[in-house]
Amino acid sequence: VDEVDGNFVRTVKNCIFSKSIPTPLKGPLRLAAVSKDVVEGILDVDVAVTQSEEFLHYASGGRLLQGSVPLAHRYGGHQFGYWAGQLGDGRAHSLGQYTNRNGEVWELQLKGSGKTPYSRSGDGRAVIRSSVREFLCSEAMHFLGVPTSRAASLIVSDEPVLRDQFYSGNVKTERGAVVLRLAKSWFRIGSLEILAQSGEIDLLRKLLNFVIGEHFASVDSDDPDKYLVFYSTVVNETAHLIAQWMSVGFAHGVCNTDNFSLLSITIDYGPFGFMESYNPNFVPNTSDDEGRYSVGAQASIGLFNLEKLLMALSPVLSEKQQKEAKMILKGYVDIYQMRIHQLFKAKLGLLGEEEEDGYLIAFLLKMMEDTQSDFTMTFRQLSEVSARQLHNSDFTQMWALEDLSSHKLFSDWLSMYLLRLSRQRDDSDLDRQHRMKNVNPRYVLRNWMAESAIGKAEMNDFSEVELLHHILSFPFVTQETAEEAGYAARPPVWAKRLKVSCSS
Ligand code: AMP
Ligand code: MG
Ligand code: MG
Repeated sequence: VDEVDGNFVRTVKNCIFSKSIPTPLKGPLRLAAVSKDVVEGILDVDVAVTQSEEFLHYASGGRLLQGSVPLAHRYGGHQFGYWAGQLGDGRAHSLGQYTNRNGEVWELQLKGSGKTPYSRSGDGRAVIRSSVREFLCSEAMHFLGVPTSRAASLIVSDEPVLRDQFYSGNVKTERGAVVLRLAKSWFRIGSLEILAQSGEIDLLRKLLNFVIGEHFASVDSDDPDKYLVFYSTVVNETAHLIAQWMSVGFAHGVCNTDNFSLLSITIDYGPFGFMESYNPNFVPNTSDDEGRYSVGAQASIGLFNLEKLLMALSPVLSEKQQKEAKMILKGYVDIYQMRIHQLFKAKLGLLGEEEEDGYLIAFLLKMMEDTQSDFTMTFRQLSEVSARQLHNSDFTQMWALEDLSSHKLFSDWLSMYLLRLSRQRDDSDLDRQHRMKNVNPRYVLRNWMAESAIGKAEMNDFSEVELLHHILSFPFVTQETAEEAGYAARPPVWAKRLKVSCSS
């Protein structure tokens, strides 16, 4: 821990954390959202407690628990392809770790809780819109089964925060909010990179040993190749994570190495987006002019980021180990391909393995691209439709399949698919539908859904945040309230005009 005290912005050396006291949000404070699942299931606290004045202050940086030493983490990172030097928690404070009744250790962190030594030119704050998005999306991802940080609560205030949302010279006054978020660890690729880049090799080794000891049970701390085994695990898990993103059409938006977790969980939700009409070139972040972080580029960006992780590990690897690490990295593409193949086979309800499965999947995706079919609903409706309806191309009320079936090769694909399904012995159509409905969500957090809830939240009406939070906790279950809200319907026309940027 940095010995220098105070939240003034500076270049920090030879440490992993700086002590940093949160700056309380200026009141009145309102609890805009709370995750009962996190508060009771992870933090062992009765959710009623979150209604107290004390909780409002705790979860927005105004009160510390006894013994808590709040820390801002020093990290660096490659941003949009280039080494960006020191970054660090510029508006986040780790409050400490909690070991729950299941023996799990969780690190609690406030985001939007004021300046730290790493704030650079930022104000240390987060506005309501980006905080609602992080709260909702991290919880939604968890219930989709994608590894992610979690969110316990969202507190909003009246504290004015100035933002130029689209960097157009149009500065607006928004309001400050704080998310209380949790992860088993918040360490990132950039956590190691800054130490390697600064030549702080003893500290690099120390942090690595700590991370391995705390979070990589499968790595033997006495193994002379332990850093290699660690690397191999991160390569493997990162491939799996990105494959899972792709299987739900999630584009993170800012896949810089400082936003890539060493535990391979999804962290730092910003200008993310769920792809609507299928398009590998979908770029959720309007500030990403070159489309570096398009949804379809994420797998290769994963490779780039893992290369940077290897660079950061190089000072603690022998030459022989460095060569082996490069071989491990070479395996990434195959691991990713294998995982994607499995996930999409499951999305189509395919059992076993047949030679043409890859073709069947690629063929469908190409048709989806050509017809701009909705990614989420095409797979969902394929899960809900019976084989008989499919056979008869009876797609009444199935708007995504109607779109898809306009493709001139649709009937060719359909014949192949139905034949493939018919060869699955010991499988019934109901079983197939059941399996598919459990992996193909009916509801994802589309930007327009978030935007509508944000509009209300900005007027202190949190009902739609709550509704979305509830619905997205059961993304695979058809829910009446969700249907009434149009969450599985064709997106409204205005959804196309929506933009999100890095400003948050
Ligand atoms: P991001 O791309 O949002 O993950 O952020 C990149 C870096 O900018 C991180 O070091 C953040 O802590 C920092 N940052 C972003 N917004 C702010 C802000 N409003 N105040 C201070 N630091 C910020
Ligand atoms: Mg970040
Ligand atoms: Mg951030």
